[in-house]
Amino acid sequence: PEFVFQQDCFFITLKYAKEAFMQLTKRNFLKGNIAVAAAAIIGSTNTSARTTDEAKKWSGEYDVVIIGAGGAGLAGAIEAIQLGLSAVVVEKMPFSGGSSALCGGSFTVPDTPFQKKEGIKDSAEKFVEDMLKVGKHKNDPELLKSYVPAAQKHLKFITEERGIKPIEIAVFAGMSVPRAHNFKPSEVLMDMTKYVTEHGVKIMYNTAAKRLVWGDKEKAVVGVECIERSKEKIFIAAKKGVLIASGGFARNKALLEKYNPLMSKVDPEGGIGNTGDGLLMAQEYGADTRDMTYIKATHGYRPTEPKFTTTFHGYYGGGVLVDKKGKRFTNEEQSYKLLADESLKLENGISYLVFDEPIRQSRMKARAVEKAYLSQMDGGKKVPWCFQAPTLEKAAALADVDPKGLSETIKKYNEDIESTGKDSVFGRTELSAGYGKAVPIKTGPFYIYPVKPRLIATYCGLRINNKGQVINVFGEPIPHLYAAGEVTGGVHGAAYMSGTAWGKAMAYGRIAVENMAKQ
Ligand code: ADP
Repeated sequence: PEFVFQQDCFFITLKYAKEAFMQLTKRNFLKGNIAVAAAAIIGSTNTSARTTDEAKKWSGEYDVVIIGAGGAGLAGAIEAIQLGLSAVVVEKMPFSGGSSALCGGSFTVPDTPFQKKEGIKDSAEKFVEDMLKVGKHKNDPELLKSYVPAAQKHLKFITEERGIKPIEIAVFAGMSVPRAHNFKPSEVLMDMTKYVTEHGVKIMYNTAAKRLVWGDKEKAVVGVECIERSKEKIFIAAKKGVLIASGGFARNKALLEKYNPLMSKVDPEGGIGNTGDGLLMAQEYGADTRDMTYIKATHGYRPTEPKFTTTFHGYYGGGVLVDKKGKRFTNEEQSYKLLADESLKLENGISYLVFDEPIRQSRMKARAVEKAYLSQMDGGKKVPWCFQAPTLEKAAALADVDPKGLSETIKKYNEDIESTGKDSVFGRTELSAGYGKAVPIKTGPFYIYPVKPRLIATYCGLRINNKGQVINVFGEPIPHLYAAGEVTGGVHGAAYMSGTAWGKAMAYGRIAVENMAKQ
């Protein structure tokens, strides 16, 4: 199951991280966590002046130079291969995948053959409408319109050309119909890496892009200055453009402090190479940013060991969230990003997800990944991360939640839902915003699952247009500079709809290189 797969993937990541860390410490870099060490590769080599093509020590020349081998960078490389462009990918870590390989695996695409097969009626217009509603119209509709055909193209590539089929189509808050095509993300990323390498595009591992190179004559970005681990500085020339696909900055505390101090206190998750390098490289050339104040953590992680699992969103099956006193504190039908904001106001950021047996059953049907761990409690089996008992009060006592407070909360909630269909405290009527009807919680066994937010992605960054060009603070494209994926802003606006971060990475990787080819 995906659950095990992701854990494997994480441990592989940890193994490489440890190796990378050992190399760094051997060279007397910082002691401390691996993210700081990874950031040190970049920080330790900064020069003071803008790098220009006077450097002229090019070690290679390609149509396209791609920074980062995650979802966006690899999709860009695939587009280059399919259009007959020469390309190279530089990757800071000793492996590909980035945060994309560790994400929840939802690829949100509207109007697909998989939806049609299940009788789901969807359209590009509905998707754009949903996204603008979730993003509170702070997102750019032009980016959303271009997302659709590119995402459809990449879904076709994964499923038809590469034969990897979605496990299911899921619905998340804000989606008017199910459109999150769920995959094992590490399987997709591994396959994209394989395709790229087999088609002759070199991925230069352990190679960190440090600065962009400016061509005074061309008045454009003409290449990238990189540091190969334990080697010299190298320069790689880009004839058509540089694609920044270096991910977000969830692991750069200084940048989080700068843009969203609350998030600098949340445990980071996701790619260890995601330290905001690309954001800084483009800012040197006046790049504008979008959505920086809207960074959100992800609700639904376990606060206790074993920590490295996927998220659980049992509220979208009808569960409710309470605090230690057993009191609800928000409307659970909201996006799990907004639920994270609310939870972060509680003691230690921990909330308790309360659900009953019918809800457990419905979640096991809804998402294979949730089935993998919820089924571990079949027949009353005990697990350390979720408490179950025949009554709510007993489950509460096990979870260290106030039993009396909880039973009063659930009594009131059930009365509301059964009499009017609307919870009178926070106004909940649906399972997730726009989908399903709220249900009472009354058939044991009852379950209490402690959850805590973590920061897996930053959902904001460089301003791009719908061609993937990076836009400067005066609204003009920076010549030959493109960006895609988590390093960009504008797709999500004020809040995030599940599956569109991985989706935008792969869609915009494609879009950017397609447009480079046209220049
Ligand atoms: P996205 O979803 O936007 O593709 P990912 O996190 O999946 O983002 O991938 C970003 C990749 O970029 C990661 O593999 C990360 O290690 C890599 N990366 C980050 N900074 C640099 C850099 N300075 N040079 C090269 N690669 C980088």
